Amino acid sequence: MGADVLLVERRRRIGRPAQCAGLVPAVAGRSIKGIKPDAVLSVVRTARSCFPDACEDTSGSPGLVLDRERFDNALAGEAAAAGARVLSGCRVEPRRSGAAAVTENGGRVNVKARVVIGADGPRSAAGMLIGSINSDFLKTIQVTLEHGHEGDETLFFFDRELEGGYGWLFPAGSLRRLGVGLPARSGIKLRQALEYFREKMSRRGFVSGRVKKITGGLVPAGGPLRCHEGGVILAGDAAGLANPVTGAGVMNALISGELAGEAAARAAGGEGDAALRDYADEIEAIFGRTLRQAVTARKRFMESWNLGDDELSAILRRAWPLSAEYRHAGRQEEEISRS
Ligand SMILES: Cc1cc2nc3c(=O)[nH]c(=O)nc-3n(C[C@H](O)[C@H](O)[C@H](O)COP(=O)(O)OP(=O)(O)OC[C@H]3O[C@@H](n4cnc5c(N)ncnc54)[C@H](O)[C@@H]3O)c2cc1C
Repeated sequence: MGADVLLVERRRRIGRPAQCAGLVPAVAGRSIKGIKPDAVLSVVRTARSCFPDACEDTSGSPGLVLDRERFDNALAGEAAAAGARVLSGCRVEPRRSGAAAVTENGGRVNVKARVVIGADGPRSAAGMLIGSINSDFLKTIQVTLEHGHEGDETLFFFDRELEGGYGWLFPAGSLRRLGVGLPARSGIKLRQALEYFREKMSRRGFVSGRVKKITGGLVPAGGPLRCHEGGVILAGDAAGLANPVTGAGVMNALISGELAGEAAARAAGGEGDAALRDYADEIEAIFGRTLRQAVTARKRFMESWNLGDDELSAILRRAWPLSAEYRHAGRQEEEISRS
């Protein structure tokens, strides 16, 4: 759109180390230009969700498991090909004036910018600058294993021992990704939870082999934040757009990132603050209600962990977007709003 763009990434190599399981809905492959075939490790068709009452729910849930390193790198490559200047290995210190100070090999460069887009993750410096800060998180840990459950299925396990969270197992090419996510305030140690879950999956014959990689990180779980002030807008995890129940945030980061880029270009191209206000309104319209509902649903199941298996599982099924009950409730709501 003719804007002069500087893209700055703290890490030396964009996307590395990847802190993600990489699952995105299949529709992302059609709508996002950056998903090249070599960034897709597995194509999945169904999702199996297992609840504490031992009932399982299998739903059609087409998805792609991405190699985030390749994917993030390809996106940065596209930005560069479209004319953006890409600086990696530099930390941004956003400024209220719209100027960002960048440290490069210990040096400091002051950059004037009409708009700063904070797409800098769950502990966003841009968010801190405008007082819009994620305060509730899921803490996660994930290992990549050599062997495991074959097939085109993702597995999700709600388990009494993983209080307030869940475990996952995804195919990733010839490897398997196994991880757990728990409320950040949980007293349960992540490594212990991971070992417990890995043991359980191993007993069921779902995983085996050596650990090839270990990763983890925080996912915002408090819902959407105010994402605009002055010349600063926030996107993705920085704006609190990950789903608090599932912890999925890639798709929402991509959608909001694209909208943020367009709004910034419009603002710089003469529309000024109005374009940034439009962005904030659009984000609220697209994500606000669904994510706030997910915050409430998560709170409810976290408070219900001491109930019996049947009651807890019923509450979890109502909160879990991949369950038949959740989908059914969504369809009913659509019908009511249409009638
Ligand atoms: C273990 C794990 C598994 C996950 N699995 C999934 C999944 O399967 N599917 C899914 O949809 N979501 C998943 N998520 C969530 C998903 O990874 C995030 O929601 C998503 O990456 C958000 O994208 P983002 O661009 O907003 O933030 P990020 O991906 O965090 O990117 C922010 C970037 O900003 C850089 N940065 C930060 N501060 C600065 C600074 N001051 N200066 C310069 N650069 C800076 C960081 O280095 C980083 O590269 C998972 C998260 C974790 C931790």
